[in-house]
Amino acid sequence: MTEKCGVVGISLDGRPASRPLYYGLYALQHRGQESAGIVTHDGFQQHSHVSMGLVGDAFTEGDLKDLNGSAGIGHVRYPTAGSVDSSCAQPFSVSFKSGSLGLSHNGNLVNAAEVREELAGIGHAFTSDGDTEVIAHDLARNLLDADLVRAVKRTMDRIHGSYALTISHDDTIMGVRDPQGNRPLCIGELEDGYILASESAAIDTLDGELVRDVRPGELVVLAEDGSGFDSYQLVDLDDTAHCFFEHVYFARPDSVIDDSLVYEVRRNLGRKLWAESGVESDVVMPVPDSGRAFASGYADAASETTPGGADRPEDDDGVEFAEGLMKNRYVGRTFIMPTQDERERAVRLKLNPIKSTVEGKSITLIDDSIVRGTTSNQLVSLLRDSGAAEVHMRIGAPPIVAPCYMGIDMATREELIAADKTVEEIREEIDADSLAYLSTEAVADVLATDRTDLCMGCVTGEYPYDIAGEETDRPVSRPTIEAAMSADD
Ligand code: SF4
Repeated sequence: MTEKCGVVGISLDGRPASRPLYYGLYALQHRGQESAGIVTHDGFQQHSHVSMGLVGDAFTEGDLKDLNGSAGIGHVRYPTAGSVDSSCAQPFSVSFKSGSLGLSHNGNLVNAAEVREELAGIGHAFTSDGDTEVIAHDLARNLLDADLVRAVKRTMDRIHGSYALTISHDDTIMGVRDPQGNRPLCIGELEDGYILASESAAIDTLDGELVRDVRPGELVVLAEDGSGFDSYQLVDLDDTAHCFFEHVYFARPDSVIDDSLVYEVRRNLGRKLWAESGVESDVVMPVPDSGRAFASGYADAASETTPGGADRPEDDDGVEFAEGLMKNRYVGRTFIMPTQDERERAVRLKLNPIKSTVEGKSITLIDDSIVRGTTSNQLVSLLRDSGAAEVHMRIGAPPIVAPCYMGIDMATREELIAADKTVEEIREEIDADSLAYLSTEAVADVLATDRTDLCMGCVTGEYPYDIAGEETDRPVSRPTIEAAMSADD
């Protein structure tokens, strides 16, 4: 699985925004490593610098100096829709009759092709095949005969899918979250202005204070002098569809998303995992770094109760928590290895067991997910080769049975090991002594929300959006483009 994108938007009282945007993007680097970009506006003119590569490589000191203005937006990207080349790098920027527009998008539209076709039919020329340009063109067209708020509302009525956007219209910075709030976006207060960011870790990096999450369906407009923000609830649905995988996998553990600290959520998921499928073993061990918080919660719960839920006797310490797999931090992520063979080798390059922690022990290995099963199989065999007596695997999320259409590159159904295999068949394939996943109910319980307020499409095969050829888990339908165009707003 690969992360999606990170967005940021900043409006300050006179101070140049480029450097805070740059630091904000650094804090969001885990959300996208293919390209990075910043668009600023100095009150007269828009400035843009977008480059392939990591944030640290994408900007020089001179680039940051040239990005004039106290308002701007930024983006880090991992490609989820559109080509893997610079034409899809963001922020997308365009100048049109009534001003200049910059747009950073995290998420994925499921009706981009329909909107694009309609816009192309009335003369819009596209320079990329990404869905962000579709949103930008639609908004630019609406801004020709509507004020900012009405124009954004019109565009929201036409696009269907997942989006957290930061937008610059000249030196006005805005943030929008799709009506189901699939992707995260939050507001922070800085010493001399305000920030919108995918995750609160970006606000912390700038010594700011998290104000709150942008609400699903809300437009937030930052004041140009950095003094505050206005809120417009443009769409208000009964149910949300927050991506539960943000909490499980994607977001930084130190971020607060939808009012929950990600680290605590992961620890609590680990505690639930013990309650649902705890197994006595000598050692609880995380897969670094993804399984660490889950394993710590699991081991904590295991020190309090037995697998059956009874209190532990005072002389029984439960299960020992130990780091038994050491990570080589200088090896790239497995997803950049193009062939299965190379991906398998990457696990050996990346992780090395500490033999004394492993030898002769029964081990519970904790991770956040199993996608193809290749890594899990490699890890189990790594531990067995180092002398482990038993390897039990526990996963802090339900089995992934279907792909994601909302902006996460998760592999195809054919590649997902759980798409057509039972838990027992997966256990056999990864060669573990036992295997258990967390239930969907446990996830909703830990996130303290109704199941209907979460997107769990990849673990249920039923999505909260109208996706061609897939089932939905609620009454949703794509907007009819012609009808939306003629609607009187
Ligand atoms: S399908 Fe899965 S990964 Fe995609 S948005 Fe829904 S919960 Fe998140």
